[in-house]
Amino acid sequence: MKEVRLRFAPSPTGFLHIGGLRTALYNYLFARNKGGKFILRIEDTDRTRFVQGAIENLIDSLKWAGITYDEGVFVEDGKIVQKGEYGPYIQSQRLDIYKKYVDQLIENGYAYYCFCSKDRLDHLREEQRIKGQVPKYDGLCREIPLDEAKKRIASGEEYVVRLKLPHNKDITFNDLVRGKVTINTNEIDDQVLMKSDGFPTYHMAVVVDDHLMGITHVVRGEEWLSSTPKHVFLYQALGWESPEYVHLPTVLNKDRKKLSKRQGDVSVEDFKERGYLPEGIINYLALVGWSPEDGDEIMNMDELVSKFDFDRVGKSGGIFDTDKLNWVNAHYIKQYPIEKLAELSIPYVVDSGLLKEAYIRENFEWYKVLIDTIKEAIDKLEDIPKHIGFLFGDLKITEDAAMEEINKEHVPDLLKTFIEVVNSHDEISLEVANGLMKEVQKKSGVKGKNLYMPVRAAISGNVHGPEMSNIIYLLGKDKLVQRAQKVLNNLK
Ligand code: GLU
Repeated sequence: MKEVRLRFAPSPTGFLHIGGLRTALYNYLFARNKGGKFILRIEDTDRTRFVQGAIENLIDSLKWAGITYDEGVFVEDGKIVQKGEYGPYIQSQRLDIYKKYVDQLIENGYAYYCFCSKDRLDHLREEQRIKGQVPKYDGLCREIPLDEAKKRIASGEEYVVRLKLPHNKDITFNDLVRGKVTINTNEIDDQVLMKSDGFPTYHMAVVVDDHLMGITHVVRGEEWLSSTPKHVFLYQALGWESPEYVHLPTVLNKDRKKLSKRQGDVSVEDFKERGYLPEGIINYLALVGWSPEDGDEIMNMDELVSKFDFDRVGKSGGIFDTDKLNWVNAHYIKQYPIEKLAELSIPYVVDSGLLKEAYIRENFEWYKVLIDTIKEAIDKLEDIPKHIGFLFGDLKITEDAAMEEINKEHVPDLLKTFIEVVNSHDEISLEVANGLMKEVQKKSGVKGKNLYMPVRAAISGNVHGPEMSNIIYLLGKDKLVQRAQKVLNNLK
């Protein structure tokens, strides 16, 4: 069987949209599943939309997500480099190639020069709008004889090249998700293939590149579905075989609207900044529009690769459900290597002002216990500060349930014993912390709930929370004594 070759072909117009990452992911999963190649091509022929730094940013986001590719555009030592035998992989560096095929289309009667001014086209569009028609080029330049057109060009007239679609012809192609798709050419515009600045449009470049780069499957968002007949026509006109097509359902929000910047986070970078783990994002995104046959929901990249296929990609939009993302991400947070999780969490804690980086680094063993203690309660790293606040500052006990515990009759004696036990140790190591409540129990004779609840309330302000021995260790000797003493003083 022919080796499959897939490509992700973003335009460097800014950040990588989370829907774009899903497109990249599905391409990647299929290519890896079939043991094929995955390519990153940069589609930058629309110079007006080019954003400085966007290529680096895209590559960075893919790398963060763990999506690797075999050919195309990479960043090495801060520089953009290209690798592979089908380059260049940046479209603005392939202008001569496109020109050659545009010329061929013109010579063979599949494309024509168009000299219509912007004014005329604006006017035409406005008229069509008033009549309630779909805006479309009216074909004025279609019949200009080629030698006359060439003379006009030689005399310096500005022009574009348009696709010469036959009238009223059905174009049919197969989509691996949607099945047979047929669109009549009467519904399609004579697409501009080459602009007056000599740059091809997306439609021309995408066909030439997919063909020359040996792409076997074009997998992209469904917003391109209506453009595909033009591409299919171009393949025929150039005497090439079309690739397989897969148009992925749009990623929608819960109201079934396109996920857009206005409603919040949509870029991969936004999710990264909020402390989602790449493993969580990837696992979750795979499920937006696809599900494996066995119904599994938690799958790492290798499992996704082995289970993925297009026949289980849905036709209707994939709903982006933040609650479910949080649930998936929380799963990865819980099982992440603690060393790594602690490292990743540092900026969030430092930004919250609760701890300084130097302090964290000096007390990293302690810090790891801290993160390990609260990781059960968080979905993403940005949640950390609100769960560690209890360790810092002056404790004010406001919770009714905690007050109730503290007001029990045996509590003053219990807290005195607690303070004695804490003070009997030079330092509250993890080991000491683990055995401390047992010591208090022995010394005070108080057991079970009567022992744990008031002590927990006194030192953490809460009747619920993380493992008691962890709280004891994390607070350390001075804070334990201070807090217990303060409650004791208030009880007197
Ligand atoms: N450059 C297009 C985009 O940014 C790629 C579409 C395609 O994959 O053909 O979405």
